[in-house]
Amino acid sequence: MDKFEKMKEKAEALDAQDPLRKFREQFVTQQGRIYMDGNSLGLPAKESIDGVLRVIEEWKILNIDGWLKGKIPWFIMPEELGRRMAPLVGALPEEVVMSGSTTSNLHSLVSTFYQPEGKRRKILADELNFPSDLYALASQIRLKGGDPAEDLILAKSRDGNTLEEDDIIALMDKTVSVAILPSVLYRSGQLLDMEKLTRSAHEKGILIGFDCAHSVGAVLHRLHDWDVDFAFWCSYKHLNGGPGSPAFLFLHEKHFGREPGLAGWFGYVKEKQFDMEILFEHAKSAGGWQMGTPCVLSAATLEAALKIQQEATIEKIREKSLKLTDFLIELVDTFLSDEPYCYSIATPREHERRGGHLAIEHPKEAWRICCALKARGIIPDFRPPRIIRVAPVALYNTFTEVWEVGRALKEIIENKDFERFPKERSAVS
Ligand SMILES: *Cc1c(COP(=O)(O)O)cnc(C)c1O
Repeated sequence: MDKFEKMKEKAEALDAQDPLRKFREQFVTQQGRIYMDGNSLGLPAKESIDGVLRVIEEWKILNIDGWLKGKIPWFIMPEELGRRMAPLVGALPEEVVMSGSTTSNLHSLVSTFYQPEGKRRKILADELNFPSDLYALASQIRLKGGDPAEDLILAKSRDGNTLEEDDIIALMDKTVSVAILPSVLYRSGQLLDMEKLTRSAHEKGILIGFDCAHSVGAVLHRLHDWDVDFAFWCSYKHLNGGPGSPAFLFLHEKHFGREPGLAGWFGYVKEKQFDMEILFEHAKSAGGWQMGTPCVLSAATLEAALKIQQEATIEKIREKSLKLTDFLIELVDTFLSDEPYCYSIATPREHERRGGHLAIEHPKEAWRICCALKARGIIPDFRPPRIIRVAPVALYNTFTEVWEVGRALKEIIENKDFERFPKERSAVS
């Protein structure tokens, strides 16, 4: 048996000792398919599908009364699911609410916190952030009468894949009003030191918020204790809420008294929402930052999805996630980095700088290698220009599957499988 084949035994041994092993069967996995894209769209839990069917039943039977009589009354679903989400991100129950989308929450929170005044007019972000966040930030600056070319400053990457916290901190000066940064970078999978960045921002009188779309459900957060001002994230990635499931936002309790930048009636003091007063009075909790009616059907997956997270515990999820990515790094380093393979790891290797997915770089053929992986039933995703993103998810992926990914990466080069695919990319990757 060659050395690579021997690694399969190691994978099987790791699977046999995996304390989260039993969770895989709670998800819908498919024969002949190795899903490594849970950081883009998590797999459905079987119970989440039951949850959707239950809400449809509630709609059929209870009609309008579902707002107060649903198993989770629809009217308070955003607060209730926020309360259940809170421990997962280290927040107080009333500091989290379900609302809108990642991007709409960014708008709502930045419009609340970004109050340019005197010389403090700038928003600090970074050039590796999800582009949507940067589009939104530029538009927020324009709404306040500024010019994004001057007022949006972007921390630069030294290597095109990662950021140095100290480079970001060096830009924190008296001209910066708010900093908005990612927790885990969507391409390279780097985890930033949110605690350190928050401390440094506050020392300079800067408010700070994090886009946690790629970290919630995969890494530990202590948003309240770190004193983060605000944060937002979606629920369809590591939280497995399904396509378009609603997002969440976190607002530190010390800010409950601020006026929401984008107000709407679901942010009204809950007990008085139906008094239909003309003057707005927002709930003094994260709930005050909701706008309109919650997406009840799309949220119906989340009760089960959050229950599974809670049962597995984020500590164990994180521990296994790091072991899975460690194992893949070992395969790439040991077997796949030299000619003719030429793969390399663009994600930082230190555990405290790594999120839940890995960025494997290939100098020339990343796109066509992704096509060849898919043709073999392995689902990664591609991020231009050179990155194959692979997310082995602790709740449902196995070490043996990671080994299979390594074998596929190896054979695709040995057999030149990728040459069968066109060089043009498709619209969604
Ligand atoms: C996935 C993701 C988003 C997506 O925003 P939507 O409003 O849900 O489309 C935003 N920011 C980051 C960093 C993401 O990873």
